[in-house]
Amino acid sequence: MKIVLASRNAHKIKELYAFIAPIDPSIEILSLDDIGFTEDIEENGTTFEENALIKAQAVAARGYIGIADDSGLAVDALNGAPGVYSARYAGEHGDDHRNNMLLLENIRDVADENRTAQFVSVIACAFPDALHAPIVCRGECPGTILHEYRGTGGFGYDPLFYYAPFGKTYAEMIPEEKNQISHRANAMAKFAEAFRTALPDLQMN
Ligand code: IMP
Repeated sequence: MKIVLASRNAHKIKELYAFIAPIDPSIEILSLDDIGFTEDIEENGTTFEENALIKAQAVAARGYIGIADDSGLAVDALNGAPGVYSARYAGEHGDDHRNNMLLLENIRDVADENRTAQFVSVIACAFPDALHAPIVCRGECPGTILHEYRGTGGFGYDPLFYYAPFGKTYAEMIPEEKNQISHRANAMAKFAEAFRTALPDLQMN
């Protein structure tokens, strides 16, 4: 069986691979480049679920099992923004620092107790046949948005996202800590379980 990870981000491919590979070593895991998929996939959904499915289905339309993820930060005081626009919150350039500054500006007057947020990651798997419904799994991590950066690791909104149980921001965690509790790890664990359950049926058809 061949599955294609619908991403061009080498880090994500590596992360997904680490979860999928142990399920069945005979599964061949390919990238978009491996199947000659060169077009950009337009992520025009309004939810993380829609965007993950759009990417997975673009691959399924080429005859492969497609797996994709979509993630971002949802701030309660902003009704879930930046949400699916997390990467391009401050503009199409996808500049992490400008995104963070805009977020701080938009919640400048929000009291500490209302600065709650969730990181969200959705992983979707779509199949090339009509027999199998897509698998969609959501992982979340709750936290609060600080008033200024803490920590230098990670990327994106990491230095502003404070996770109380560890007393650290994502940017202060070592990768092993973040991987224990992150939205992505959470979604991947759920997805690996759902995929493992679906596998016997997939292998029969
Ligand atoms: P993507 O859909 O996984 O590419 O993520 C979209 C955007 O969400 C990224 O560009 C980041 O701004 C933000 N994001 C997603 N996951 C994380 C994370 O673990 N830390 C910080 N920012 C993240």
